[in-house]
Amino acid sequence: MNKYCFGVDIGGTTVKIGLFTTDGTIVDKWEVKTNKEDGGNKILPEVCASLEEKMQEKGIAKDEIEGIGIGVPGPVDDDGVVLTCVNLGWGTFNVAEEVSKLTGIANVKAGNDANVAALGEMWLGGGKGHGEVLMITLGTGVGGGVIHNGKIITGTKGAAGEIGHMTVNYEEEDSCNCGRKGCLEQYASATGVVKVAKRILAKSDEVSAIRDKDNLSAKMIFDAAKEGDKLATECVEQLGWYLGAACANIATVVEPDVYVIGGGVSKAGVILLDVIQRHYEKYAFHAHKDKEFKLAELGNDAGIVGAAKLVINE
Ligand code: ZN
Repeated sequence: MNKYCFGVDIGGTTVKIGLFTTDGTIVDKWEVKTNKEDGGNKILPEVCASLEEKMQEKGIAKDEIEGIGIGVPGPVDDDGVVLTCVNLGWGTFNVAEEVSKLTGIANVKAGNDANVAALGEMWLGGGKGHGEVLMITLGTGVGGGVIHNGKIITGTKGAAGEIGHMTVNYEEEDSCNCGRKGCLEQYASATGVVKVAKRILAKSDEVSAIRDKDNLSAKMIFDAAKEGDKLATECVEQLGWYLGAACANIATVVEPDVYVIGGGVSKAGVILLDVIQRHYEKYAFHAHKDKEFKLAELGNDAGIVGAAKLVINE
């Protein structure tokens, strides 16, 4: 096996890149700007130029590179074909093939960024030591990735693991970003929990630390709940209820061994894990109880670590 590999995480504003040894040690990491000019046609050539530059800098020959893994913010199938990346201006094309052509490195694999982050957490983060992992990323939206037998479940066209758009409320009248109504991310994302909080506050006259805040955030809600604020606690309970019940439903299909919770909201820590797990256990089928809930450990590096793992077979 070769000594090195690259993990590339393409985002809407920056591309994060890591140079790894094939046992998962980060040798170097850096970022380049995501150049969205010309319909996103400059992104891959610029990323590949940056990889070449790094190899020169480190004195690494091309034949020492095991492969290049790439995370992309859109659906990607098992062959590396991306199906429209609105964020980047991309249509449908084979990312893996393109990067292979540009670099002359044969082993290139691509995956959806949320799925790839889940793979990273399975390999070296909160899911380490487990082959059946569900990763939930609680950020502006709710992202997810399902790992089965140590591999990402991608689905037919690479859109599996979109758990943020699982319908959890059939009565909802407001629309989700996806255009449907009642998606998990409308309640359990950083923006969702704030919306839930506003509804809870509107229904009550009770004094609360989170009342009348123009810039109410998920962090403020969790901080107030930690101080024992009753309405803030109610918000956290509701978020935990949606997520716990969703995890119990997911378990009926794939039965993960560990649930890894990441994203900005996960900075709330143990209070978040506890509330999700408590509601999970209430809804879980008897054979699915007693699963672990853990915080993600890799932070922003999950994407590059998982991308590297795409091209490493142990
Ligand atoms: Zn949705």
